Amino acid sequence: MVAELIKGNEIAQAKRDEMKDEVARLKEEGVIPGLVVILVGNDPASLSYVRGKTKACKQVGINGKLIELPEETSEEKLLELIDHYNQDETCHGILVQLPLPDHISDTAIIEAISPEKDVDGFHPINIGRMMTGQRAFLPCTPFGIIEMVKMKGIPIEGKHVVVIGRSNIVGKPVGQLFLNENATVTYCHSRTANMKEITKQADILVVAVGKMHFVGKEFVKPGAVVIDVGINRKDDGKLTGDVNFEEVEQVASYLTPVPKGVGPMTITMLLQNTIQSAKWSHQTEGVH
Ligand code: NAP
Repeated sequence: MVAELIKGNEIAQAKRDEMKDEVARLKEEGVIPGLVVILVGNDPASLSYVRGKTKACKQVGINGKLIELPEETSEEKLLELIDHYNQDETCHGILVQLPLPDHISDTAIIEAISPEKDVDGFHPINIGRMMTGQRAFLPCTPFGIIEMVKMKGIPIEGKHVVVIGRSNIVGKPVGQLFLNENATVTYCHSRTANMKEITKQADILVVAVGKMHFVGKEFVKPGAVVIDVGINRKDDGKLTGDVNFEEVEQVASYLTPVPKGVGPMTITMLLQNTIQSAKWSHQTEGVH
């Protein structure tokens, strides 16, 4: 068996094409979705991520604004800026690129963003809403993973999903989203005993560890769906995942490549959340 690839870049492009039409319709109603992306400091990787995000906004017609602040910006100054955009009705999403410099508390910043503009889905209110199945902004990478699986027509209900990794931005929420779709979910992490025995029971295996080629074929049940979230850079500068692709494609039924897998979906779901925020705020205006 050779696994069928789940091509995140193609799914992402199809979604962005639909978004273009949706944004055009919103514009006719006088609403231009707006996203403010704030970067503190000049970390090259973060700079390339935020530029990618604002460029993607432009592609679909979202008004994306990038604010670059110097490394020495105080927490107070950043909180003031967030407060300004919390009040600004033309701004529907606020994203502060993480990690922040050490003198600024990530938690304080995340909690300062209005939950109604938290398009990254990191605010504890949105996490709580997601867990209780209420209307919420879903964190972009986990949201993108669920979308990919659904768009491929892969059944989720009743399936055993095993997630390796329990970070707040990927592992924990992706398991919760699969649970919300009626899967049975098991988490593995660095203290898990007999991990391969557990992962070999997975119908859908999500790998978010951050270690190059951590998962080989001995972790995978024949016919399983394998989602590789990892992004690692090889010595030659090329990107590769947490899954040993050559090995696992021989046993899995579906597999996401790296690059062109989960990565392109993440930014796409950020765009979707921003458009959703604009729609929700527009509906609320109509109610008053
Ligand atoms: P993270 O915060 O470092 O979390 C890694 C998780 O892996 C932790 O829960 C850790 O367990 C677990 N782990 C580490 N070593 C392990 C081992 N030997 N056995 C079992 N579990 C182990 O990383 P993250 O933010 O979730 O990101 C994971 C990967 O996804 C990274 O490569 C990152 O670059 C990538 N990523 C990709 C996207 C995208 O858009 N494609 C988005 C975000 C992240 P403990 O909790 O026990 O320490």
